Amino acid sequence: MPQTTAANPLESLPLASDPRFIPADRADPADASQAVSLNPATGQPLAGVRLDGAAELEAAIERARAAFLRWRLVPAPERGEVVRRIGHALRQHKDALGALVSMEVGKIRSEGLGEVQETIDIADYATGLSRMIGGRTMPSERADHRLFEQWQPLGPIGVITAFNFPNAVWGWNAMIAAVCGDSVVWKPSLMAPLTAMATNAIADAVASEMGHEGVFNLVIGTDDAVAKPMTADPRLPLISATGSTEMGRKVGQVVAGRLGKCLLELGGNNAVIVEPDADLDLAVSALLFAAVGTAGQRCTTTRRLIAHESIVEPLLGKLIPAYEKAPIGDPMDEDTLVGPLITEQSGEAFDGAIEEARSQGGTVLVGGERADVSLGGCFVKPTIIRAPSNNQLPVAQRETFGPILYVFTYEDLDDAIELHNSTAHGLSSAIMTSDVRSSERFLSPAGSDCGIANVNIGTSGAEIGGAFGGEKDTGGGREAGSDSWKAYMRRQTCTINYGASLRLAQGVRFG
Ligand code: NAD
Repeated sequence: MPQTTAANPLESLPLASDPRFIPADRADPADASQAVSLNPATGQPLAGVRLDGAAELEAAIERARAAFLRWRLVPAPERGEVVRRIGHALRQHKDALGALVSMEVGKIRSEGLGEVQETIDIADYATGLSRMIGGRTMPSERADHRLFEQWQPLGPIGVITAFNFPNAVWGWNAMIAAVCGDSVVWKPSLMAPLTAMATNAIADAVASEMGHEGVFNLVIGTDDAVAKPMTADPRLPLISATGSTEMGRKVGQVVAGRLGKCLLELGGNNAVIVEPDADLDLAVSALLFAAVGTAGQRCTTTRRLIAHESIVEPLLGKLIPAYEKAPIGDPMDEDTLVGPLITEQSGEAFDGAIEEARSQGGTVLVGGERADVSLGGCFVKPTIIRAPSNNQLPVAQRETFGPILYVFTYEDLDDAIELHNSTAHGLSSAIMTSDVRSSERFLSPAGSDCGIANVNIGTSGAEIGGAFGGEKDTGGGREAGSDSWKAYMRRQTCTINYGASLRLAQGVRFG
């Protein structure tokens, strides 16, 4: 495939060749058989997608099942070579695909490109992993026996993704699943179907050219017609679902009901603790990126700032001007730092949270209103709200998917950690400090209860090398690096007797 550019991603990416693709002039939001992808910056349709239903889901699962039966027997390093070439194809399309991410979900240009880079990184990682998947050998208690475990491919994997990472979340799942010997059936968010179509087409073209048709499959449909039946289907032994906690609870119950495996990557309510000895300039940079980046629409967005009472004023004295200066506008404009919210409903949730915070005694220090951007989309001002002095602000207990940062204060680090851990979610966390004793307390068993705990960086922007995911209402799943690959395989414990007699474990004698 030739290299594509950002000039016109809708034409240069492999979209029009998909029979589901409907050009913008024929996209009709009133037609229930279509999903229309709107540019959140302008509210204008980018294109439409003909929705799949039960028949297409059935065909995709069967295609994935047939592919799995062949793919599981392909040596893992050979599977890695397919993934390596997918990474190469994504490099060729990075500019255009990054632009499409920005156009479809409103991320600023650099973050759109960063998202595609993340998928390229995970493809590189998975390629290496394809030569490193290994099992342990344990000492057998029996003479002339060998006891070991090995990891087998699991089956076709169902992947359900959220709107805000329309490319990378598929990458985290699909690249690892592929080297593990699994095929993939992907159900993307209906708010970002075009990025999904282009991404899957790029991967499918590479795999098919190499003789591996059917490893990567995409079904674009409503929750009732496609997502829910997918979660209930026993032919998909693992469902990896990314989205809200509300969605995760439903998916988790359905999958548990059939004793399937579930990998849940759900919401977050992430906090940063700022100690008296913190480098405040560093804290401001970290907070600005983590709380305002992606207009607060990351699962890892910093939503709560827990600042020591001795430095809260100077910290806010630096942070508020930085908030005021953050350029809001067209995500395709290189100078913009804050793009649109995904929908008007997100704007209403933002307005509602601010009103609620005010009624609970919170004080809006900056922002707190819509931004005056005349592009047509829903733009809001990055907002800081200070909790009342008793730290009681119930609205801060929930994830509002927008750029709102609630500020709390503390005297003692143990109280700060208790406050930090007091929410239902457990995804990402951070402490800003120059004192090793404070950072070690934060990282101790009595410290942060989150899946991710950082020191002197913010809560967002994780690297793919580590396992990504969180505890409590975040769902407990782990994706991307470290040993996350184990979720995509089945463990098999094997005992080989190379002696001439049958020896029983635990010294049992029989006959
Ligand atoms: P959402 O929950 O509305 O939808 C996510 C996906 O689930 C969509 O594809 C949707 O169609 C599907 N879905 C919804 N109900 C379903 C059901 N009953 N059965 C099967 N599928 C169903 O989330 P969203 O608004 O697209 O994304 C924002 C949310 O995602 C936030 O809460 C954010 O924190 C979370 N998120 C988490 C991570 C993570 O890795 N932890 C990453 C990105 C986003």
